[in-house]
Amino acid sequence: MSPTSSAGRLLDGSVPVEEHLDALLDRLGGHGISAEHTLVALSTCRDELVAELARAVDVRWGHPFTVGGLGGIPAIGHTGWRTALSHVPAHGGRGAALVIGTSHIGVAPDGSIGATLRVGQDQVSATCGALVAVNDAMHADGECPFDDHEMQVLWSEIQSCTGGGHSDIDELTVTLAGRIDHEVSTAIRATRVWEDCDVAVVSGVHIHHPDGDRILQLTSTITGADGRPTPL
Ligand SMILES: [Zn+2]
Repeated sequence: MSPTSSAGRLLDGSVPVEEHLDALLDRLGGHGISAEHTLVALSTCRDELVAELARAVDVRWGHPFTVGGLGGIPAIGHTGWRTALSHVPAHGGRGAALVIGTSHIGVAPDGSIGATLRVGQDQVSATCGALVAVNDAMHADGECPFDDHEMQVLWSEIQSCTGGGHSDIDELTVTLAGRIDHEVSTAIRATRVWEDCDVAVVSGVHIHHPDGDRILQLTSTITGADGRPTPL
């Protein structure tokens, strides 16, 4: 898969990372949820480029719990989720968990999407590299060639919802964000964490743009004591 020049489709509707998180703070505040009573968990790729989102989260909520594996699919199981959610700062009442799940994509200096010029390198490289590797291999022969657990998980997720990959990296990245949201929401339902704390799930695409990182939000819900997710 090669970078394309269709960055506009993802950039439309995206906002700078800081603006996205400030808006989240405001919306959570509207539900009576303060930053000091909230634990953030990040289901994001392991790529160092994603550290920009973690840094901006840290400034507002404190250190986040790391949930995601390659591509951003949750890499932990039931015990890991229970561990993460047991860290919610309840302060004697109902605290809150905010789970932010993103796929991610790069924009090269020439505006092409699906690649990033990284610090200290003189050529662009695929971003998300794991997602592009899975998609390229899927087109090649239909068999999963990876013996890496996280790549196998990513392969299965993409295979199950595309039946053989996408030709557009931006469409594929949005599809992956949907799978991340699905896996996070499934885990949240399994833990029934809303019995102890409010839980918000916010999903989207993290865009590494030469002019600054941006977030395209796709979904956001909050679940209170009644266990029913509603739009956040
Ligand atoms: Zn990645």
